[in-house]
This record gives sequence, structure tokens and C-alpha cells, in this order.
Amino acid sequence: MSDLKSLIRSIPDYPKAGIMFRDVTTLLGDAQGFKAAIAQLAEPFRTVPIDAVAGIEARGFILGGAVADRLGCGFVPIRKKGKLPWKTIGQEYALEYGTDRIEMHEDAIKDGERVLIVDDLIATGGTAIAAAKLIRHVKGTIVGAAFVIDLPDLGGVKALQNAGVDSHCLMAFEGH
Ligand code: AMP
Repeated sequence: MSDLKSLIRSIPDYPKAGIMFRDVTTLLGDAQGFKAAIAQLAEPFRTVPIDAVAGIEARGFILGGAVADRLGCGFVPIRKKGKLPWKTIGQEYALEYGTDRIEMHEDAIKDGERVLIVDDLIATGGTAIAAAKLIRHVKGTIVGAAFVIDLPDLGGVKALQNAGVDSHCLMAFEGH
């Protein structure tokens, strides 16, 4: 884990002043680091029946696609608004200022299918909770959520747990 953590690049004041951006591209670019991260993300779910990984745009696509391949299940993209070509359902969620919206194809998950949510990082949990609402709207069962990075001070893992979803995180960074 400490090895993987050293592969994350921390960029102060990006995308705006006061934010410490945790950049996973340096982990993705490291062959052994990427392989280890995918193995560790998938590990708790290897023996659990899962129909699909739902990956959140955009870094959740890279990680989620590889996790889905490893688990031998399908992949469902959860995208920013207006990007998906077929009929969608959407969910608004709060940002620091204003709101945003994520969308999923309405037929991407069938009634009773078991779904694992994957993203690179959980901060406030707003994005992952919105993803969970979309999956539950089409009557999918959420098996859990997997993230490379947790920012515990922002409370996302607890908020997601309060929404009934347990998280598996590979590392944590204190602060924002
Ligand atoms: P949240 O909805 O607050 O849990 O934010 C999670 C989403 O925002 C994820 O898709 C992350 O990629 C992105 N994100 C939030 N904060 C950071 C940060 N400090 N560094 C990198 N990505 C972040």
C-alpha cells in the first residue's frame, strides 16, 4: 500500500486555490503499480457474485474497466450529463457551489443485478451516492464501492455507508 501511495502525485491549488489534487495518472502510468492497484481493488470481491462494475467518468472508467475484466463481469459507464447516446436516467448532486448531474443508460442494469461502484477517489461522497441512487432506481443491488483514494476528512466513506454502501479504499490522505 505504501508503495502505491508513493505513486500518487499531489498537486496543490488545482483545479483551484486550496484544493490538493490527488493525481492517479502517475499510478496508472506505472505498469506494476497499475496492475497492483487493480488486483487490490478487486480482491475483496473475487468470490462475490457480481454482474457489473459501474465506473464513474472519467478515471473510474480506466480503473473500473480493468476491475470488471479481472472479476469477469460487465462494465457500465456512469457519465457526466449529455454524453450517453441512448435513453438515460440522471441524478443531480451538490457541489461546493451549485449542482452537477450524472447519467446512466436506463437499460444498463437489470432488476436484481449485482453492481460494484468504482472510482479513483472518494471525497464528500456526493458523486458515489448519486451513482448509488441511479443503480437503485433501476433496481440494481449494490455490492459495494471501491476507490483507490479516500479523503477521510471529507467524510465520503461515512456518508456512503449511511446510504447503505460499504467502501473498500486502498489508501487515505489526510486533509482536503
Ligand atoms: P466527491 O463527490 O466529493 O466524493 O468527489 C469525488 C469525485 O471528484 C471523484 O470522481 C474524484 O475524481 C474527484 N475529486 C474530488 N476531490 C479530488 C481531489 N482532491 N483530487 C482528485 N480528484 C478529486
